[in-house]
Amino acid sequence: MANTQIAAAREGTITEEMERVAERENRDPEFVREQVADGQAVIPANTNHDALDPMIIGREFSTKVNANIGNSETTSDLETELEKLHTAVHYGADTVMDLGTGTDLDEIRETHLEYSPVPLGTVPLYEAVKQAGSPEEITKELLLEIIEKQAEQGVDYMTIHAGILAEHLPLTDGRKTGIVSRGGSIMAKWMEEHGEQNPLFQAFEGICEIFAEHDVTFSLGDSLRPGCLADACDEAQYAELDTLGELTRRAWEYDVQVMVEGPGHVPMHKIAENVQRQQNVCDGAPFYVLGPLVTDVAPGYDHITSAIGAAMAAQAGAAMLCYVTPKEHLGLPEEEDVRDGLAAYRIAAHAGDVANERPGARDWDDALSEARYDFDWREQFRLALDPDRAREYHDQTLPGDNYKEARFCSMCGVEFCSMRIDQDAREDGEMERLDTETDLEASPAAEVNLPPVGTHDSGDLPPVEECGEYPAESAGDD
Ligand code: SF4
Repeated sequence: MANTQIAAAREGTITEEMERVAERENRDPEFVREQVADGQAVIPANTNHDALDPMIIGREFSTKVNANIGNSETTSDLETELEKLHTAVHYGADTVMDLGTGTDLDEIRETHLEYSPVPLGTVPLYEAVKQAGSPEEITKELLLEIIEKQAEQGVDYMTIHAGILAEHLPLTDGRKTGIVSRGGSIMAKWMEEHGEQNPLFQAFEGICEIFAEHDVTFSLGDSLRPGCLADACDEAQYAELDTLGELTRRAWEYDVQVMVEGPGHVPMHKIAENVQRQQNVCDGAPFYVLGPLVTDVAPGYDHITSAIGAAMAAQAGAAMLCYVTPKEHLGLPEEEDVRDGLAAYRIAAHAGDVANERPGARDWDDALSEARYDFDWREQFRLALDPDRAREYHDQTLPGDNYKEARFCSMCGVEFCSMRIDQDAREDGEMERLDTETDLEASPAAEVNLPPVGTHDSGDLPPVEECGEYPAESAGDD
């Protein structure tokens, strides 16, 4: 029998991990068990990952955030990689994916697992390419060997690009940006060279057996995710999604936990449709989305373009958000990029939880708002999503200890602090008088403010064509 959380859940057993997850999420352990048994949530917890503090990923639980770390061929050493893990966990990553493609991969992975309290995910295909020397040299046997080794090391979940099939490849021909998933491009290259079906698809049963033994969770890769808005929701993306649905059901037959990865670049008005489609096709298996980026025009700010999409995806039912940093499309992120990316994504996840009225989600907002209205600056910093950043920004202009109880900050200043003015007015009883005694129609403010902005009569202005052209010298920069 499989040694997995889903197998135990289906037998009616509440495991230690389920108890711990229930405690962390403030939910009933029996509810956790039911969600895991039905495949609606996963607890990625390899039986060999001793340092793990178990967590759960599912649409009924708080939205989680993943951070990618890992070395490349140009940057690689153990200490740096451990620092990256520390940074990611410090800034709030719920899981970490090691996408390393440099040297010492085994040593780095084993050390990560020795220390990481959060689940660790990998993409074993990358190591297979490194060992084989090129995508074409990969074999089914090598893939299974590497997957088994990583499972024994304690990896909690693995991205497996088994959903991209030979028959999907022609569907990408008219795309603006082709296949943008690293794993997808490698599998496509292999299929074209060999004229055979995807080896990960061929080896899927073998992978299920390994995962069942060590309780590794599938993260079924979306190899054909759109790499730009023009390619979003196309035939190729949805054909692969159908295959991912089939693979989900096959993995469940082996009592293996599954989540499914999603796009990519998707315009805002199509995000909910994407989430609902995945939930229908994959029978509610947790959806793990990258972004999605809602526009392609902001390199350098893609933590923002994607966090907008991530918040919408979370509201629509996505269970985990894979962060994007400001360096997306441009280079390998550094510590400050990781911090900015994680902040953006934790905001997106929390905004989704508030919108979905997750139990207790709004309490955090309410506590911070109370501290804000009380001018309790220290409590505001403590409750802030990034306490160091909040304190740093406040103290840039008002550093002294005496300003930690001040009834203003430098944004509006002493005279114009609206919260202070409001509080003073309430203390003086002016609010009550306003309710009962003020005739708004007769007040001087009414004269100034009416008609409202936007309804002023423009009849006296000359028509636009009579205004002439702008002088040439004002068209350029000063
Ligand atoms: S000065 Fe403005 S921003 Fe600062 S606490 Fe008062 S109302 Fe808020």
